[in-house]
Amino acid sequence: MPFTSLNLAPTLLKELVVQNYLQPTPIQQAAIPAILNGKDILGIAQTGSGKTASFVLPILMNLQRGNRAKNRHINVLVLVPTRELAVQVKDVFLLFAAALPIHIKTIAVFGGVSINPQMMALQGANILVATPGRLLELIDSNSVHLSEVETLVLDEADKMLNLGFKEEINRIFLLLPKKRQNLLFSATLSDDLQNINQLLLHDPLVIKIEVEETNIALIAQSAYLVSEEKKGPLLRYLIQQNNFRQVLIFTSSVYKADNVADKLRKNGIEAEAIHSKKSQGARTDALKKFKAGNLRVLVATDLMSRGIDIQFLPHVINYELPRSPKDYLHRIGRTGRAENPGEAISFITPEDEHHFSVIQKKMGKKVTIFNSEEIDFKNLK
Ligand code: AMP
Repeated sequence: MPFTSLNLAPTLLKELVVQNYLQPTPIQQAAIPAILNGKDILGIAQTGSGKTASFVLPILMNLQRGNRAKNRHINVLVLVPTRELAVQVKDVFLLFAAALPIHIKTIAVFGGVSINPQMMALQGANILVATPGRLLELIDSNSVHLSEVETLVLDEADKMLNLGFKEEINRIFLLLPKKRQNLLFSATLSDDLQNINQLLLHDPLVIKIEVEETNIALIAQSAYLVSEEKKGPLLRYLIQQNNFRQVLIFTSSVYKADNVADKLRKNGIEAEAIHSKKSQGARTDALKKFKAGNLRVLVATDLMSRGIDIQFLPHVINYELPRSPKDYLHRIGRTGRAENPGEAISFITPEDEHHFSVIQKKMGKKVTIFNSEEIDFKNLK
């Protein structure tokens, strides 16, 4: 089914072509018509499935047709777990809203930065993308009212619950009008989420997008058996030997992320870390530089990876293995996206070996493991 059969405005169709969205993804094919018809949605889908556009496009269409709220009332509320995702979702709204003849204002609000500019920006906003804590602060200061919200989106709801936003979310629900459209997106369906889903959704269309096999098939996966002490030299060896220009490296802790980036810099490889302890400004700058191809290595923790959306990311390295196979798939899914081949390399210490075999089993794919002891690090620059 092409985009042209989805009842979208001709100017939006044009913008989709400009953005190189040639064919709707499965979640877009299912969600767009349903959301245009006012239905609730439960979308079990990961980042990379095209879920953002699957709600952004029909929401903008619906807003064009209806009344737009005024005086610090908003029409659409999108709740997200992290600042990075807030900015990313807002940007997709801005991109497509610019293609429409009627002015629709979208803003993103999140904690960790000054609240005043956000209070002012809320004036005249139609779509608000927010992390739960900051939203409540803005509600408490009367900067925004939720009583006219027509559509609520919960994006990456599983992550929101994992981050402990349950209470905040429940407080927010109480402030919303009873009659509204609810769109819930999550990578997984936990028991907690099942409760929210029952509380929230009215006869939803359930769309389940399995982790894309084709994506996984596109990714060249390999692993290196390596001791903890040799990880640094191995990393430098791989980056230099293969002349990697744009690498995303994952670590499990904030401390490790800083440490890996520091060591690379000391060895003349341009690297920066992004994690929850960095200021918002530093995170945004690093991400921008990395996206533009002006930063060779970005080191990130799992949480930060949610906001990293780069279409042609060629290399991902797991400096430390993630705990769950799901996170492993999510990490390596940063590469090989949208039909582009990529490469994912994992560092395996002797203690990780069993865990890595579990990951491979869950994924249904065997990964070739090389022994780093066979590599001669002496010639490292
Ligand atoms: P998401 O799952 O919303 O994070 O989107 C993942 C990536 O796929 C983003 O870089 C989008 O710009 C891109 N994308 C979304 N829908 C399409 C499409 N129909 N065709 C090509 N790229 C898409």
